[in-house]
Amino acid sequence: MDLDHAPTRRALAVAGAIDQGLVTTDQRPVAGLLDVRSIREAARALRAAFAEQAAPRQHILHTFAVKAGSLVPVLRLLAEEGLGCEAASPGELALARAAGVRPEHTVLDSPAKTRAELREALALGIALNADNAQELARLDTLVASAPTRSPLGLRVNPQIGGGAIGAMSTATDTSKFGFPLRDPGARAAVVRAFVDRPWLTRLHAHVGSQGCPLELMAQGVRETYELAEEINRAVGAPRVDTLDLGGGLPVNFGSDEVTPTFQEYARLLARTVPGLFDGRYALVTEFGRSLLAKAGLVLARVEYVKSAGGRPIALTHAGAQLAVRTVFAPGSWPLRVAPYGPDGEAKSGPATAWDVAGPCCFAGDLVATGHPLPALDEGDYVGLLDTGAYYFSTPFGYNSLPRPGVYGFTVEQHGGRSEVRFATVREPQGLDSIVAESGGAARDALLHRPAPDGPDPEDPAPRP
Ligand SMILES: *Cc1c(COP(=O)(O)O)cnc(C)c1O
Repeated sequence: MDLDHAPTRRALAVAGAIDQGLVTTDQRPVAGLLDVRSIREAARALRAAFAEQAAPRQHILHTFAVKAGSLVPVLRLLAEEGLGCEAASPGELALARAAGVRPEHTVLDSPAKTRAELREALALGIALNADNAQELARLDTLVASAPTRSPLGLRVNPQIGGGAIGAMSTATDTSKFGFPLRDPGARAAVVRAFVDRPWLTRLHAHVGSQGCPLELMAQGVRETYELAEEINRAVGAPRVDTLDLGGGLPVNFGSDEVTPTFQEYARLLARTVPGLFDGRYALVTEFGRSLLAKAGLVLARVEYVKSAGGRPIALTHAGAQLAVRTVFAPGSWPLRVAPYGPDGEAKSGPATAWDVAGPCCFAGDLVATGHPLPALDEGDYVGLLDTGAYYFSTPFGYNSLPRPGVYGFTVEQHGGRSEVRFATVREPQGLDSIVAESGGAARDALLHRPAPDGPDPEDPAPRP
């Protein structure tokens, strides 16, 4: 048994999760599973890929984009592997802090930071990138009123075009993110902003994500680098000392192969922007999906099977509440669906085209349509593969379906036997928690006359 092989570990984890009761017939019909070793290996591959290109002593901070896996133990694990956090909201910043990520390893990038958020980040010494001219004006006021250790930068949009998925393309002409560089007069204004502000020392660009070719991402980095060079010539000193390269390495959702690799991307960057690695600039990266996707899967029970219009349908417990993008944009986000028997053994047999449906009450709640699968039965399981990022960590509250438990697994060999151990990353949500977050404590808030001590409308019998 080759435990170095991620699919082998996954197969053992699926059987182990069923055997150890993490998914059960009634209470827990779905769970998220994360391969701890895969996460560590991805983090190490990222660090090694950039270290291979970097100049001696060049400072590189790899941050993890929290939105891709907003779970405190995951952030903590990545921190142990030397990664910081890229936060894009007060909640994400709170998660990074709860994970013990140090302020100097944290970057704040949200597009709509309030004054209070800006003030807090500056007080903590967290790096932040201003998105637009109004935010920069707020920083002017805040920096003048209190000294800060925060490294400050501007997010720019090189406007070099998009990739295959519009919603994931952040460098189009009209993208909502950053200072557009190709609008009339915009580039000169950005250069001027740096000349006028000695405390502005960073440039940030995040060109896009899934669906973007690596060449486009590398071109975005080149444009950002060239702008830094232009600013530093205009200032007459190395004012811009750090380049924040964003994230966005696409993930292969079609097989177990990891393509493209961090190494391919780092090598492409070195070829496209040689000056990036000559040691004059410190670097920050912000990868999300590519660090986590292949380490996770959703394991869901098949509650029923049926057929409609000649199409076999499996009604499972994994739908839009866990696979939002796949359900609403199936063309852009297809997933592999792995079939398992009731004991977690991989199922095989002649394949036919199945629809794999979720538990939500709308017709489009399908995680796969016409997917080749062997005959499924009530009591089987399906695994949605490569869902470690942006799936169970980014649930959708539709139909008041509870958030599933998330468990990290490790597999060890003892004698000839392999043993799967699970650690709870997030408990499955209980129904009382759903009631509480749905205004359960404010039951009478909309009544004409709130009467906390009055008779219960459900219990009209007069009390003795
Ligand atoms: C979402 C995001 C990332 C991470 O993107 P991935 O495609 O998950 O790697 C990095 N930086 C910023 C600013 C982002 O918004």
